[in-house]
Amino acid sequence: MPGTEAFPDTADVIVVGAGPAGSTAAHHLARAGLDVLLLEKTAFPREKVCGDGLTPRAVKELVAMGIDISPEAGWLRNKGLRVISGGMRMELDWPQLATFPDHGLVRRRDDFDERLAHQARKAGARLVERCNVTGPVLDERTGRITGVHTRLGADKRPVTFRAPLVVAADGNSSRLSLAMGLHRRDDRPMGVAVRTYFTSPRHDDDYLESWLEVRDCPEPDGRLLPGYAWVFGMGDGTCNVGLGVLDASLPYRDPDWRGVLRTWCASLPEEWGFTPENMTGPVRGAALPMGYNRQPHYSAGLLLVGDAAGAVNPFNGEGIAYAMESGRIAAEVVVQARARRGAEGRETALRHYPQVLKAAHGGYYTLGRAFVKLIGRPAVMKLAAERGLSHPQLMRIAFRLVNNLTDPTGGDAVDRVLNALARITPRS
Ligand SMILES: Cc1cc2nc3c(=O)[nH]c(=O)nc-3n(C[C@H](O)[C@H](O)[C@H](O)COP(=O)(O)OP(=O)(O)OC[C@H]3O[C@@H](n4cnc5c(N)ncnc54)[C@H](O)[C@@H]3O)c2cc1C
Repeated sequence: MPGTEAFPDTADVIVVGAGPAGSTAAHHLARAGLDVLLLEKTAFPREKVCGDGLTPRAVKELVAMGIDISPEAGWLRNKGLRVISGGMRMELDWPQLATFPDHGLVRRRDDFDERLAHQARKAGARLVERCNVTGPVLDERTGRITGVHTRLGADKRPVTFRAPLVVAADGNSSRLSLAMGLHRRDDRPMGVAVRTYFTSPRHDDDYLESWLEVRDCPEPDGRLLPGYAWVFGMGDGTCNVGLGVLDASLPYRDPDWRGVLRTWCASLPEEWGFTPENMTGPVRGAALPMGYNRQPHYSAGLLLVGDAAGAVNPFNGEGIAYAMESGRIAAEVVVQARARRGAEGRETALRHYPQVLKAAHGGYYTLGRAFVKLIGRPAVMKLAAERGLSHPQLMRIAFRLVNNLTDPTGGDAVDRVLNALARITPRS
């Protein structure tokens, strides 16, 4: 390509994007001894729009990466979720399970993502910041991806990196996947979420808080939205306050989400301080790609992970745990494939990646899509919001289902029922 510097940089694997999915994949690949390039278009620390809430599933992945999650290292623990709806409230503790820890965490994403990228680098991955991947390098004969073109540094000089395998961890828009012809599936749910920060006396809370009644405008005209609002105390004098909604179920396009959040905040007790003058940053939002909305997860040398794969949980909009899990699973598959002797054996192992992902989450996500359809019906959402909390036992089961927290083997009756449901539901 004229004007492109032929940069002699090669690796075993290139990971594009150093969010939770990319850093986790790069960490596990590097720890297994592979030469990994982790390319990130921004420079850390950088802002990332998020609720900053981590469930026990995400905590488990952090522990697997050897990250110090102690309060001394700056992590704020939580015991569970406080759900508020229909004039009632209920505190639901994270369950005691063999498979997952019994606490969640909170950490701002600028800090969190930098911490994960640092851990990947510590394991041996070569992190290249300010490296914007602009497109794939393709083998003309086979159509396989064999590297990426980038614009590097402040002067945006063109640099090409090469590797036989590339992991797309470049988030929801995933320009790399698009350039490889992998588009979003329209039949999968999509959410949208917005958030901001306020200085607030509620900053020190050992429960994440979720409100099920969010309306598109103040009552009585307001339509109950399929989603929830949250208040996550950050422990540093501020709260992350936001809302997440399934956007496909709405009868109109592009609602004013910032306005909806402002209206909701105005309905909260004044002493919490969720007022414009206490806002420490603007309201920002982004999409939540759910239920594996981009497939296939492997083709022609490219593996998809995290939001690029559409890995957000359709039940609750949680994305970090699934970004990290898919990053780890992709790394495990690549490590095994690389150990095969022939090209055919390697390809067989790589082609198995979509099945491995589906075995982990496929049945559960199919159930999630049914759930999304259900709460997309105004009457069902109304019933859940107004009456849900008056059935505590049902709420406890729903809490485990929505947060995907069961022991896969053994466990109690709830585990067995929920696991059986996910097992018999088709994985797609
Ligand atoms: C408002 C909001 C609140 C949310 N709250 C929560 C929450 O509380 N808990 C939770 O678990 N999930 C939450 N999520 C979802 C969560 O943020 C995502 O699912 C998660 O960030 C996905 O991680 P990822 O690594 O796949 O992608 P990302 O975090 O998007 O990371 C992608 C990375 O790729 C880089 N990149 C992109 N393009 C290129 C390129 N061309 N070249 C090089 N690098 C590139 C980006 O700079 C970025 O660093 C929320 C989402 C939103 C919008």
